[in-house]
Amino acid sequence: MSKSSPLPAGQAVQSTHASAAPAQAPATAARAAPEVTGGRRLVLVLAIMLAIGFLANTLISYSVSSREIRRSIVENELPLTSDTLYSEIQKDLVRPIFVSSVMAGDTFLRDWVLRGERDVQAMTRFLAEIRSRYDTFTSFFVSETSRNYYHPDGVLRRVRQGDPQDQWYFRARGLSAPYEINVDVDTSAPDTMTVFVNYRVLDYSGNTLGVTGVGLSVDTVRRLLSGYQQRYHRGVYFVDRQGNIVLFGDKPAHGSLQIRDINGLRDIADQVLGSEAGSYRYSDRSGDYLLNVRYVPELEWYLFVEKEEGEALADLRRTLYLNLTICALVTLAVLALSGFTLARYQRRLEQMATTDRLTGLLNRHAFETMLEQTLADVQRSHRPVSVLLFDIDHFKNINDQRGHLAGDEVIRKVSERLRGGLRASDMACRWGGEEFMVVLKDCSSGDASRRAEALRALIAAHPVRVDDVELGTTVSAGVSQMRIDDTPVSLVGRVDEALYAAKNAGRDRVESA
Ligand code: GH3
Ligand code: MG
Ligand code: MG
Repeated sequence: MSKSSPLPAGQAVQSTHASAAPAQAPATAARAAPEVTGGRRLVLVLAIMLAIGFLANTLISYSVSSREIRRSIVENELPLTSDTLYSEIQKDLVRPIFVSSVMAGDTFLRDWVLRGERDVQAMTRFLAEIRSRYDTFTSFFVSETSRNYYHPDGVLRRVRQGDPQDQWYFRARGLSAPYEINVDVDTSAPDTMTVFVNYRVLDYSGNTLGVTGVGLSVDTVRRLLSGYQQRYHRGVYFVDRQGNIVLFGDKPAHGSLQIRDINGLRDIADQVLGSEAGSYRYSDRSGDYLLNVRYVPELEWYLFVEKEEGEALADLRRTLYLNLTICALVTLAVLALSGFTLARYQRRLEQMATTDRLTGLLNRHAFETMLEQTLADVQRSHRPVSVLLFDIDHFKNINDQRGHLAGDEVIRKVSERLRGGLRASDMACRWGGEEFMVVLKDCSSGDASRRAEALRALIAAHPVRVDDVELGTTVSAGVSQMRIDDTPVSLVGRVDEALYAAKNAGRDRVESA
């Protein structure tokens, strides 16, 4: 018999006494390995699908939500802020224009100039009255004839053509429009930025008499703008037709006073200043901005209201990171849990594949593999190894008289006694129905016979108790030492013959091959 395949399928070692071996165990073992690898792949695929599903779901909802937030900022928030602001600044900026227009059309003022500006006190009283009644910061009149700058407290100075601080007068005087708005330093209070409404005064035939108007401290307006900035985290500022940022809250947005100096805004400046109103998006170094612009015709300024996107999306982004973390944790948990379950399942399958269910001993399939290895070891090491084959005597009688379950109990008890008498290095298996094979390492034939005899005596000395009935149980055993040229088939054949001899010699005894 060939040594390389001693126990091919369907040609396994058979002893004459052997009844049917537990056939299902090897079959299960053969199936187990591919199932487990398949299972591992399944877990991996599941984890990947789970991760992809989670990711897609999270990212899509993030993208939809951020688009929705952006839309709501552009279509609702910013225009609403712009509307509210517009109505508030109207009170602060537009009413003074009306007041100035009333001053410019006042017949007292015009007649007073036309009569030669004689009573200065009459003019200062007029200006003081305007200032207190309309609660402005200042009020003034500059006469074209005398070039006197009249103020509630008297004549402040005389304006001169070449003086840079008087340039405004010569510009306002020559306007084609009836008035201009000018943010400037007040000549009477040089520390304060003031918004001047410079209104042209004409006589009854349309000749220029001078320029009158009121000045407002910009503090009120700036406080208003910075309030918006702080409360709603929105940039709010006014830009003139040339793109100069003329009025802002605490500090100019983007640290610049001209929109063409601001990255991103530079590229759309012409477009923004070319239309009455619009919504825009641009990117500066500090972030992406959503911008709403409206033209305020009374001021000839544009009102810019903008919001940094990142700030608006910060909450959403935090939620995104939280979601991603949860997704990763759930995926990992699923991976760990299914991996753990699979490993346990695999261990159980392996155990089921190698263990006999009734006795807990190795099953025949596993034992045959061990036997092959042991033979190979013997051929290498030349150390003595012996094999014992036990068979319960007259077992059929137990089955017939006490039933199959009692028979099972006897098999279990005999296997327990066998195991109790073995050493750690010995190997035992359930070879067939009520047959047990034992391999004793470092054990010659003589020693093996003695140990077999001890086991036989141990079993004979302890009847098996089933349903309060003691069943005297004996075993017969065959013993054989492994030879260098043995195959599993020849070895099992020899030990089986020895067992047969023990049976023939009257049972309850040990015979050596
Ligand atoms: P002998 O002394 O010659 O061995 O006589 P025996 O009656 O023990 O004869 P044999 O060994 O041929 O009989 C084995 C019987 O064991 C046959 C089968 O019905 C029974 N058997 C096999 N497996 C099991 C099992 O798992 N449980 C039970 N209860 N009986 C089994
Ligand atoms: Mg038998
Ligand atoms: Mg028997």
